[in-house]
Amino acid sequence: MEFIPYGRQTIEAEDEQAVLEVLRSPFLTQGPKVAEFEQALCSYTGARYCLAVASGTAALHLAVAALDLPEGSEGITTPNTFTASANSMVYCGITPVFADIDADSYNISPAAISKKINSRTRLITAVHFAGQAADMPAIARIANQNKLKVIEDAAHAIGSCYEDGSRVGNCRYSDLTIFSFHPVKTMTTGEGGAIMTNDEALYRKMLLLRSHGITKEPALLSQNPGPWYYEMQALGWHYRLTDIQATLGISQLARIEKFKAKRRAIVAKYNEAFNNHPYITIPKEKTGTSACFHLYVIQIDFEQLGKSRSEVIAQLATYGIGSQVHYIPVHTQPWYQASYGYREGDYPVAERYYHHCLSIPLYSAMSEEDVQRVIFAIQEIIK
Ligand SMILES: *Cc1c(COP(=O)(O)O)cnc(C)c1O
Repeated sequence: MEFIPYGRQTIEAEDEQAVLEVLRSPFLTQGPKVAEFEQALCSYTGARYCLAVASGTAALHLAVAALDLPEGSEGITTPNTFTASANSMVYCGITPVFADIDADSYNISPAAISKKINSRTRLITAVHFAGQAADMPAIARIANQNKLKVIEDAAHAIGSCYEDGSRVGNCRYSDLTIFSFHPVKTMTTGEGGAIMTNDEALYRKMLLLRSHGITKEPALLSQNPGPWYYEMQALGWHYRLTDIQATLGISQLARIEKFKAKRRAIVAKYNEAFNNHPYITIPKEKTGTSACFHLYVIQIDFEQLGKSRSEVIAQLATYGIGSQVHYIPVHTQPWYQASYGYREGDYPVAERYYHHCLSIPLYSAMSEEDVQRVIFAIQEIIK
């Protein structure tokens, strides 16, 4: 019996062929494939500029760094996210402040954001949890009124659409949007990420910061004694993506709509199976949006069921089925509690959600049999 993880990559023959070709080409890195991948991401999302980088975390770090916010500023994000959404602020001397989530979408609540704004607030990082777009029109309105910058952490949401039908990544509602291409996400480059923006100045700054803050571009140099010359003009990092990774990304992006259709079909089957279940709450998709679901999260009434989440996870494992918890609220992490004095109880909606959530397998390589195995096991264990 093959183990079904909660998420994994989908690699096909055309991905293998593309990577093999680049391995035999003159450039493994700093060749033509990175720019080609960036161009493909711009065409797909509709954003003007794209920078492919080493990871989603590197993308978040560069995005916050490029905004150049004063030390001691505050940034608002959701507690229901991977730690990197908040860590990227800390890297840049910005204090992360959390705003509680909406109980239906599990995304950051615009009303909760408004309550956290003060004179030091400069940034909102919204996360499109599980692939469902956060309420970006409302967040953009709040940001405009308060002169705040907006980053979209779209690590879960490549392929998703807003209520207006346009694609996540077009930066219509934000200054910058980041993606992650870790193998568990909807499409992969092994490790990798990207930042989308429509702002040329931000793009140029990030271009410099991605590569040590060093440039060789003649127009930007203070002197030009020869083609060997380069200048370090800012303190940057090495956050480049390789041509091997970019090639895999190009090949995967070409199939994104297929991945999306497959994920949505699995979500529809799960919804049908678990709708009206006495102990299970299925995810609600906001009408009008079209999410490319990265995760399928159910909420389980463990108290009524008479089993703990750990027991359910262990029982699923005996059926050869993986599951995971997304997310332990960031403000309850020991480092965040020690550094900023956050306490359990600070964000009750996110905490309540956390105590009931469970992500069950969702990835485009799942077979019909895999899906039925998951449904059967859940129905056997949760009854
Ligand atoms: C995966 C993820 C990241 C980080 O991406 P990496 O590519 O693993 O660095 C950031 N934010 C969210 C919400 C994620 O799920």
